[in-house]
Amino acid sequence: MSDTADRDAIPATTQPGSYFVSNYPPFDRWHAGAVPEVLAAFAGPPTAEALGLYAHIPYCRKRCKFCYFRVYTDVTAGDVERYTEALVREAALVAAQPAVRDRILRYVYFGGGTPSFLSVRQLERLVDGLHRSFGWDDAEEVTFECEPGTLSEPKVRALKSLGMTRISLGVENFDDVILEANGRAHLSAEILRAWEWIRRAGFPNTNIDLIAGMLGETTESWQATIEKTLALEPDSVTIYQMELPFNTVFVRDAKHGGGTVPVADWPTKRAWVDWAFDRFTQAGYAISSGYTLVRDPARVHFRYRDMLWEGSDLVALGVASFGHVGGVHYQNETHQADYLDAVEAGRLPIVRGLRPTRRELLIRELVLGLKRGRLDTGRLERKFGIDPLVEWAREWESLEAEGVAERRPPEVRLSREGILRVDSLLPRFFEAPPPVGA
Ligand code: SF4
Repeated sequence: MSDTADRDAIPATTQPGSYFVSNYPPFDRWHAGAVPEVLAAFAGPPTAEALGLYAHIPYCRKRCKFCYFRVYTDVTAGDVERYTEALVREAALVAAQPAVRDRILRYVYFGGGTPSFLSVRQLERLVDGLHRSFGWDDAEEVTFECEPGTLSEPKVRALKSLGMTRISLGVENFDDVILEANGRAHLSAEILRAWEWIRRAGFPNTNIDLIAGMLGETTESWQATIEKTLALEPDSVTIYQMELPFNTVFVRDAKHGGGTVPVADWPTKRAWVDWAFDRFTQAGYAISSGYTLVRDPARVHFRYRDMLWEGSDLVALGVASFGHVGGVHYQNETHQADYLDAVEAGRLPIVRGLRPTRRELLIRELVLGLKRGRLDTGRLERKFGIDPLVEWAREWESLEAEGVAERRPPEVRLSREGILRVDSLLPRFFEAPPPVGA
């Protein structure tokens, strides 16, 4: 049984720490000793799971003060070109592996960092190079993340002709004072200009990213941001609640100055997201997860999110990227120099990994699935041979007692409150690692 003691206690003020659950088992259990197992998985037979590709571009114009990703801000065109050539080379190394060879990519995701940091010429060379190893003409979704101030109309048109189907624009907020206070590189005028180019280019799917509770946010500024987002009519909106991981500029500065980061507390941030969910649903959007709303659920899907959350294989390219192949989790070298050394020497740049047990894979799909607010337990039972409603009966009872979930076999549905704080509900399903040799 799982040990749930105190694990779901998110403090009422935003304390430093990470609460967002992005994978399972947690990254602190991944280790270098598993690299031979990752390599063996690549050398083994392919699975029947869907296959996706993630390419990480670790460059940004400026480091946001809340950012905890591996990003580089002071780079030359030569640095970028060397890195993108390494991505192409890594793709060729991976595509030659038996577990991946000749498989069709169902989705592709360019993330970062800032993929739109690349120039048109660099993008064309990168996409052309990746295509030599992986065809994605049949992919159901090709997502490309953009920072407004890095775009130009020719670049947006180039993204369309390079086959991107989903453009995700990192808006975060429309208030220039807030954008500046949080270290964002762009201002609101750049958002509006970029959105017009994106709209004119006619992508099948457009997304706007927002963050609830940036430093300086007030109820008034948040509501203005939501109204401005609605006016742009994106196909989907993604809203994250601001958190303060330890390795951010905000937390480091506060530590040195002996103070705290005055970011709104969790109930306030949830109330803001709740308000946004109301406004978007009034405008015809549907809630698609704890973080996303879509304008037309019949037309707009998140292949990347849904396939990844349902256990797809994911080839990860680039520094510090996370992947999953043949039932094994892995991560690439976390520093650019080490990543380049490995790839340029013709080696897969894998630095750590973990082979989850089958039960851990089930827990992974359960907790990630719950983030959608509606968990298909029937699918999990068919896939893993275990009925999650029976196996975690005590946890479902506790969630129902809190009024945040309801069992409706073969589903579990979260209430609005549950979906707003879904990450705080998930650790109760986490378990201690199995004994060595199990
Ligand atoms: S744009 Fe994104 S990746 Fe780049 S510094 Fe800001 S939060 Fe980090």
